[in-house]
Amino acid sequence: MRLLLALLIFPALLVAQPGGQQGGVTIQAGEECPPGMTEVRPRNCRAPTMPAPSILDYRPRNTVVSADQPVPRAKFPAVDFHGHPAPIRSAEQLDALQREFDAMGLGVMIAANNVSGDALKAQVAVVQAHPTMRNRIRFLTGISFANVGPGWAERAVAQLEADVAAGAVGVGEIGKGLGLSTRKADGTRLAIDDPALDPVWQAAARLKIPVFIHTADPAEFWQPIDYKNERWLELALFPNRRYGEEFPSFEQLAQERDRMIKRNPNTTFVVAHMAWYANDLPRLTRMMDEMPNMLVEVGAVLYDIGRQLRAMRDFFVKYQDRILFGKDSYQPEEYPYYWRVFETRDDYFDYYRDYHAFWKLYGIDLPDAVLRKVYYQNALRIMPTVPRAAGMQ
Ligand SMILES: [Zn+2]
Repeated sequence: MRLLLALLIFPALLVAQPGGQQGGVTIQAGEECPPGMTEVRPRNCRAPTMPAPSILDYRPRNTVVSADQPVPRAKFPAVDFHGHPAPIRSAEQLDALQREFDAMGLGVMIAANNVSGDALKAQVAVVQAHPTMRNRIRFLTGISFANVGPGWAERAVAQLEADVAAGAVGVGEIGKGLGLSTRKADGTRLAIDDPALDPVWQAAARLKIPVFIHTADPAEFWQPIDYKNERWLELALFPNRRYGEEFPSFEQLAQERDRMIKRNPNTTFVVAHMAWYANDLPRLTRMMDEMPNMLVEVGAVLYDIGRQLRAMRDFFVKYQDRILFGKDSYQPEEYPYYWRVFETRDDYFDYYRDYHAFWKLYGIDLPDAVLRKVYYQNALRIMPTVPRAAGMQ
């Protein structure tokens, strides 16, 4: 701070700092360079001689020469447990999806759009009427958390039973609104571990269906939006992703979710986005060990999977029976990045979205037996009524 002040008052310091190189300034051990400068020698900072680009415009070409290639198609047919297709309304729409599924090696999509009641029946009917796609799309049903209070659980369980009878294979995706914003009938915040919800989790156990739940968001969304924040660009692009004082903390939401999972040990919970702990494998490891009824899904955290290739590979091998492939946002051109990270030993390749990650990815080179489990065997185990697609042994 004192240095900054000195720079403002004496710009000449930039030109000739005793002990520094020409054009540089000297800092103390443990200090950072002033804004606009970088450390060119130990404790010596210098500013570029040209205007620096913004992080949007700095796109250095990848000069690593290798024979590596993208992986357009999954090695084994995959179940996308975290599918968000547009509402299924027509055979033509299914024809188009079939072409896309086949091109990228997707066997089955589980639509996680919280569709319930008549809307669920209508979409199931369109899928069932299609000669080839009838076995390649299944649906999760939604739970309405509006007005939780007396009588809510009975209605929710009755709807869940009806939806399962209509073909739903699980519950979800329960959105992050549960915990962050949903209010009870009495106006108070509905905590994720509110005991009023337990009858629904217990009904899921009785019906032998998994519950797919997304809680909170990356922890950086709760941190100050400064130039130390890994998600600065995302938070600047999407202001509604910042969580201020009016929201429960990331840690509180995580603890509510974990208490709910522990209190319902007979229910299978699939926690979306690796619980936002793909960047904290020690914490995620503890969760896996404490909650044997929990599985994780990998959607939208590929940037963390592909930057810790060795630790992540170990994690996938250790918990190979409890990890599900899922993509989240349905963008067919993005699935191949997942295949490449899971299947290859490739080094230093581009990710598809700068605002998630400004770094490159590496392949974690999963063994075939683990790939098969993550791609489809684990999903078929927890949802035994889902049909096997061609190639799923
Ligand atoms: Zn989702």
